[in-house]
Amino acid sequence: MTTRRPDDERAAPPDWQRRESLLLAPWAMHAADSAGRVHDELPHAFRSPYQRDRDRIVHSAAFRRLAHKTQVFTGYHGDYHRSRLTHTLEVTSIARTLARALALNEDLVETLALAHDIGHPPLGHAGEDTLAELLTDEGGFNHNAQALRIVELLEIRYPHFPGLNLSREVLDAQATRKKDGTAPAPLLEAQVVDAADSIAYDTHDADDAVELGLVTMDELLEIPLMADAANRARDRYGPLAGAELRRAALHEVVEFEVAELVTRSRAAIAALGIESVAEVREVFRGQGGMPGVRIVAHTPAIAAGKRALEQFLFQRVYRSDRVLTVRVPAQRKLTRLFDWYCLHSDEMPPSFRGRVEQFGVRRSVADYIAGMTDRFLDRDHDLRIGPG
Ligand code: MG
Repeated sequence: MTTRRPDDERAAPPDWQRRESLLLAPWAMHAADSAGRVHDELPHAFRSPYQRDRDRIVHSAAFRRLAHKTQVFTGYHGDYHRSRLTHTLEVTSIARTLARALALNEDLVETLALAHDIGHPPLGHAGEDTLAELLTDEGGFNHNAQALRIVELLEIRYPHFPGLNLSREVLDAQATRKKDGTAPAPLLEAQVVDAADSIAYDTHDADDAVELGLVTMDELLEIPLMADAANRARDRYGPLAGAELRRAALHEVVEFEVAELVTRSRAAIAALGIESVAEVREVFRGQGGMPGVRIVAHTPAIAAGKRALEQFLFQRVYRSDRVLTVRVPAQRKLTRLFDWYCLHSDEMPPSFRGRVEQFGVRRSVADYIAGMTDRFLDRDHDLRIGPG
């Protein structure tokens, strides 16, 4: 008797393909047109290639560790604020709304959103800056490049190859985030995730900052984007103050930015006569002497409003004493632990140790440390080097 695996392609016709051709626009990336994977795999009976990619991200160790990685604030600051994982889930939620409204491939969008931050090391941007400095002579460190290293090399889930063997379109989208000009022009699915990332962090960082007392609501309301949102919230709910006003106003900002983005993107698709993925890419690169454009982009007025909010957050939050006070000792710990592992690379787990010959000790130690959560780094530092 022969056994039949669920991924035997004779088991069922691909329902997902019929579903996509019914629901997706011609400018969406259809999974049937995927350029495939580096390592050939049998098609799955009922999951599309991008559904499988999404599941591979969710089941990866790097994804789970996002729960204990800093977004902006660390565990020292309490437990109201976002972690890297909850940020990722907010981005995914917004990105799926945008994708559905624009008839894009939601499975692909979900994959890209869930994966977009998995390359972040512990301790947020403090960790990234420190690793970048430590690796100056080895080509630096960047979380977008690291995300690719994770999905192509560092995650070990299959017996026959390293990495997650994701679809080409997922790798390309992550490569465009490196912004080094080597990747193909981004699909609309990738553009949607970039926009959702920016909508999510602007608003949730403002929310966290007020909750943690770094800025007051009155200060936030001096930013026109926030003031307008507060006015709309009051129109909708009547007089509001305190935490009620904060929640309602920030909800309005998200709602407003998403709605405007949908309207503007739909209009751009129509005006440019976009009818294929190839045309999305041509328009991004620019053609016939015309400059390239992102189809999923805010109006200049909203973009300026967001910039004002981001400048405010940069000065008052990301560079605030409360964030920087935690940052300096954390960077010192990371550096000490990095130096320690460079001298004791045999103490790393076998998979990291095993890459030293190919990639050098400093890059391999960086791979190991970048994968740590904030609290693992803390504990490991105290174990290896001693507290203080
Ligand atoms: Mg992000």
